[in-house]
Amino acid sequence: MNVVLLGPPGAGKGTQAKLVKEYLSCPHISTGDLLRDAVKKELPIGKEAKSYMDKGELVPDEIVVRMVADRLTQSDTGNGFLLDGFPRTIEQAKFLGAELDKIDKGLDLVVYFKTSEEVCVSRLSGRRICRDCGAIYHVKNMPPKSDGVCDVCEGELYQRDDDKEETVRNRFRVYEKQTEDLIKYYGEMGLLYEVSGDTDAEELFEILKKKFDSIQKNA
Ligand code: AMP
Repeated sequence: MNVVLLGPPGAGKGTQAKLVKEYLSCPHISTGDLLRDAVKKELPIGKEAKSYMDKGELVPDEIVVRMVADRLTQSDTGNGFLLDGFPRTIEQAKFLGAELDKIDKGLDLVVYFKTSEEVCVSRLSGRRICRDCGAIYHVKNMPPKSDGVCDVCEGELYQRDDDKEETVRNRFRVYEKQTEDLIKYYGEMGLLYEVSGDTDAEELFEILKKKFDSIQKNA
Protein backbone atom coordinates (compact mmCIF):
# COMPACT_ATOMS: atom_id res chain seq x y z
CA MET A 1 0.00 0.00 0.00
CA ASN A 2 1.27 3.49 -0.88
CA VAL A 3 0.62 5.82 2.01
CA VAL A 4 1.49 9.44 2.85
CA LEU A 5 1.62 10.52 6.50
CA LEU A 6 0.81 14.19 7.01
CA GLY A 7 1.00 16.09 10.26
CA PRO A 8 3.12 18.68 12.03
CA PRO A 9 6.43 17.78 13.69
CA GLY A 10 5.57 16.14 17.00
CA ALA A 11 2.24 14.70 15.81
CA GLY A 12 3.43 11.14 16.43
CA LYS A 13 3.85 10.15 12.78
CA GLY A 14 7.23 8.58 13.49
CA THR A 15 5.85 6.40 16.29
CA GLN A 16 2.97 5.19 14.13
CA ALA A 17 5.25 4.70 11.13
CA LYS A 18 7.41 2.26 13.13
CA LEU A 19 4.34 0.15 13.91
CA VAL A 20 2.66 0.46 10.52
CA LYS A 21 5.74 -0.43 8.48
CA GLU A 22 5.79 -3.84 10.17
CA TYR A 23 2.05 -4.25 9.69
CA LEU A 24 2.14 -3.40 5.98
CA SER A 25 5.66 -4.79 5.32
CA CYS A 26 6.88 -1.70 3.55
CA PRO A 27 9.62 0.88 4.21
CA HIS A 28 9.16 4.09 6.19
CA ILE A 29 10.63 6.90 4.11
CA SER A 30 11.07 10.07 6.12
CA THR A 31 12.52 13.04 4.23
CA GLY A 32 13.62 14.56 7.56
CA ASP A 33 15.59 11.36 8.35
CA LEU A 34 17.08 11.21 4.84
CA LEU A 35 18.19 14.84 5.12
CA ARG A 36 19.63 14.41 8.64
CA ASP A 37 21.53 11.39 7.41
CA ALA A 38 22.94 13.42 4.50
CA VAL A 39 24.00 16.15 6.95
CA LYS A 40 25.68 13.62 9.24
CA LYS A 41 27.56 12.03 6.34
CA GLU A 42 28.50 15.50 5.05
CA LEU A 43 27.07 14.71 1.60
CA PRO A 44 26.62 17.64 -0.83
CA ILE A 45 22.81 17.51 -0.31
CA GLY A 46 23.36 17.69 3.46
CA LYS A 47 25.66 20.69 3.19
CA GLU A 48 23.06 22.54 1.10
CA ALA A 49 20.18 21.57 3.40
CA LYS A 50 21.69 22.17 6.85
CA SER A 51 21.19 25.93 7.20
CA TYR A 52 17.48 25.64 6.30
CA MET A 53 16.96 22.72 8.66
CA ASP A 54 18.63 24.46 11.60
CA LYS A 55 16.17 27.35 11.27
CA GLY A 56 13.17 25.07 10.83
CA GLU A 57 12.64 26.31 7.27
CA LEU A 58 11.80 24.13 4.30
CA VAL A 59 14.73 22.88 2.25
CA PRO A 60 14.34 24.01 -1.39
CA ASP A 61 12.30 21.69 -3.62
CA GLU A 62 15.09 20.97 -6.11
CA ILE A 63 17.08 19.25 -3.35
CA VAL A 64 14.21 17.34 -1.74
CA VAL A 65 12.40 16.11 -4.85
CA ARG A 66 15.59 14.63 -6.33
CA MET A 67 16.17 12.74 -3.10
CA VAL A 68 12.57 11.39 -2.97
CA ALA A 69 12.56 10.37 -6.65
CA ASP A 70 15.73 8.32 -6.07
CA ARG A 71 14.33 6.68 -2.97
CA LEU A 72 11.00 5.69 -4.53
CA THR A 73 12.65 3.72 -7.30
CA GLN A 74 14.58 1.48 -4.88
CA SER A 75 13.42 -2.13 -4.92
CA ASP A 76 12.15 -2.25 -1.32
CA THR A 77 9.18 -0.05 -2.31
CA GLY A 78 7.70 -2.87 -4.44
CA ASN A 79 5.24 -3.71 -1.70
CA GLY A 80 4.41 -0.04 -1.06
CA PHE A 81 5.80 2.74 1.13
CA LEU A 82 5.02 5.05 4.01
CA LEU A 83 6.09 8.52 3.04
CA ASP A 84 6.61 10.80 6.03
CA GLY A 85 7.43 14.52 5.78
CA PHE A 86 6.82 14.61 2.05
CA PRO A 87 4.98 16.20 0.33
CA ARG A 88 4.77 19.42 2.31
CA THR A 89 3.52 21.69 -0.48
CA ILE A 90 1.17 21.39 -3.45
CA GLU A 91 4.17 21.60 -5.78
CA GLN A 92 5.75 18.62 -4.03
CA ALA A 93 2.40 16.75 -4.16
CA LYS A 94 2.14 17.30 -7.91
CA PHE A 95 5.71 16.15 -8.33
CA LEU A 96 4.96 13.01 -6.31
CA GLY A 97 1.86 12.26 -8.40
CA ALA A 98 3.90 12.60 -11.61
CA GLU A 99 6.75 10.41 -10.30
CA LEU A 100 4.31 7.69 -9.24
CA ASP A 101 2.58 7.85 -12.63
CA LYS A 102 5.95 7.20 -14.29
CA ILE A 103 6.37 3.95 -12.36
CA ASP A 104 2.70 2.95 -12.72
CA LYS A 105 1.85 3.53 -9.08
CA GLY A 106 -0.62 5.72 -7.24
CA LEU A 107 -1.42 6.75 -3.67
CA ASP A 108 -3.88 4.63 -1.69
CA LEU A 109 -4.25 6.85 1.38
CA VAL A 110 -3.12 10.11 2.96
CA VAL A 111 -3.35 10.02 6.76
CA TYR A 112 -3.52 13.45 8.38
CA PHE A 113 -2.51 13.57 12.07
CA LYS A 114 -4.29 16.71 13.28
CA THR A 115 -2.46 17.93 16.39
CA SER A 116 -2.34 21.12 18.48
CA GLU A 117 0.75 23.34 18.68
CA GLU A 118 1.07 22.91 22.45
CA VAL A 119 1.06 19.11 22.24
CA CYS A 120 3.74 19.19 19.54
CA VAL A 121 5.91 21.68 21.46
CA SER A 122 5.68 19.67 24.65
CA ARG A 123 6.54 16.39 22.87
CA LEU A 124 9.46 17.71 20.86
CA SER A 125 11.11 20.19 23.22
CA GLY A 126 11.37 17.40 25.83
CA ARG A 127 12.72 14.82 23.37
CA ARG A 128 16.28 13.53 23.90
CA ILE A 129 18.12 11.13 21.59
CA CYS A 130 21.09 8.84 22.22
CA ARG A 131 24.10 9.85 20.14
CA ASP A 132 25.26 6.24 19.87
CA CYS A 133 22.22 4.00 19.40
CA GLY A 134 19.46 6.49 18.49
CA ALA A 135 17.13 5.48 21.38
CA ILE A 136 14.55 8.16 22.07
CA TYR A 137 13.54 9.55 25.51
CA HIS A 138 11.39 12.35 26.85
CA VAL A 139 12.46 14.38 29.88
CA LYS A 140 8.96 14.09 31.45
CA ASN A 141 7.08 11.25 29.73
CA MET A 142 9.92 8.75 29.31
CA PRO A 143 13.01 9.90 31.24
CA PRO A 144 16.20 7.83 31.26
CA LYS A 145 17.17 6.25 34.59
CA SER A 146 20.15 8.55 34.85
CA ASP A 147 20.02 12.15 33.60
CA GLY A 148 21.57 12.58 30.12
CA VAL A 149 22.65 8.93 29.83
CA CYS A 150 21.09 6.24 27.59
CA ASP A 151 19.58 3.27 29.48
CA VAL A 152 20.40 0.92 26.59
CA CYS A 153 24.04 1.68 25.78
CA GLU A 154 25.09 4.43 28.24
CA GLY A 155 25.63 6.81 25.30
CA GLU A 156 25.22 10.56 25.72
CA LEU A 157 21.71 11.95 25.21
CA TYR A 158 21.31 15.14 23.18
CA GLN A 159 18.61 17.47 21.99
CA ARG A 160 18.26 17.92 18.21
CA ASP A 161 19.01 21.54 17.25
CA ASP A 162 15.60 21.85 15.66
CA ASP A 163 13.83 20.47 18.78
CA LYS A 164 14.55 23.69 20.72
CA GLU A 165 11.23 25.31 21.66
CA GLU A 166 11.51 28.38 19.40
CA THR A 167 12.48 26.26 16.38
CA VAL A 168 9.71 23.76 17.10
CA ARG A 169 7.17 26.62 17.13
CA ASN A 170 8.56 27.88 13.85
CA ARG A 171 8.51 24.38 12.29
CA PHE A 172 4.91 23.94 13.46
CA ARG A 173 3.78 27.26 11.94
CA VAL A 174 5.68 26.70 8.69
CA TYR A 175 4.10 23.26 8.49
CA GLU A 176 0.56 24.51 9.15
CA LYS A 177 0.82 27.29 6.63
CA GLN A 178 2.28 25.08 3.93
CA THR A 179 -0.01 22.11 4.40
CA GLU A 180 -3.37 23.88 4.60
CA ASP A 181 -3.70 23.71 0.82
CA LEU A 182 -2.27 20.22 0.71
CA ILE A 183 -4.98 18.92 3.02
CA LYS A 184 -7.62 20.48 0.79
CA TYR A 185 -5.90 19.04 -2.30
CA TYR A 186 -5.88 15.46 -1.02
CA GLY A 187 -9.36 15.92 0.46
CA GLU A 188 -10.70 16.79 -2.97
CA MET A 189 -8.97 13.72 -4.42
CA GLY A 190 -10.85 11.57 -1.88
CA LEU A 191 -7.59 10.28 -0.34
CA LEU A 192 -7.55 12.09 3.00
CA TYR A 193 -8.14 10.26 6.29
CA GLU A 194 -8.01 12.52 9.36
CA VAL A 195 -7.05 11.20 12.81
CA SER A 196 -6.15 13.00 16.03
CA GLY A 197 -2.43 13.09 16.79
CA ASP A 198 -3.38 13.67 20.45
CA THR A 199 -4.72 10.09 20.66
CA ASP A 200 -2.75 7.51 22.65
CA ALA A 201 -0.28 5.68 20.35
CA GLU A 202 -1.69 2.17 20.82
CA GLU A 203 -5.26 3.29 20.28
CA LEU A 204 -4.27 5.23 17.19
CA PHE A 205 -2.49 2.19 15.74
CA GLU A 206 -5.70 0.15 16.15
CA ILE A 207 -7.66 2.84 14.28
CA LEU A 208 -5.11 2.87 11.45
CA LYS A 209 -5.01 -0.92 11.15
CA LYS A 210 -8.81 -0.99 10.69
CA LYS A 211 -8.54 1.61 7.96
CA PHE A 212 -5.76 -0.26 6.12
CA ASP A 213 -7.69 -3.53 6.41
CA SER A 214 -10.79 -1.97 4.91
CA ILE A 215 -8.81 -0.54 1.98
CA GLN A 216 -7.14 -3.90 1.34
CA LYS A 217 -10.49 -5.69 1.49
CA ASN A 218 -11.99 -3.34 -1.09
CA ALA A 219 -8.95 -3.39 -3.40
P1 AMP B 1 11.04 16.62 9.90
O1 AMP B 1 11.90 15.59 10.56
O2 AMP B 1 10.02 16.04 8.95
O3 AMP B 1 10.42 17.59 10.87
O4 AMP B 1 12.04 17.47 8.96
C1 AMP B 1 13.12 18.16 9.52
C2 AMP B 1 13.51 19.28 8.56
O5 AMP B 1 13.90 18.72 7.29
C3 AMP B 1 12.40 20.26 8.23
O6 AMP B 1 12.28 21.28 9.22
C4 AMP B 1 12.88 20.80 6.88
O7 AMP B 1 13.94 21.73 7.06
C5 AMP B 1 13.47 19.57 6.22
N1 AMP B 1 12.46 18.84 5.42
C6 AMP B 1 11.96 17.59 5.66
N2 AMP B 1 11.07 17.25 4.69
C7 AMP B 1 11.01 18.29 3.83
C8 AMP B 1 10.25 18.55 2.65
N3 AMP B 1 9.35 17.67 2.17
N4 AMP B 1 10.45 19.74 2.00
C9 AMP B 1 11.34 20.63 2.48
N5 AMP B 1 12.05 20.46 3.61
C10 AMP B 1 11.92 19.30 4.28
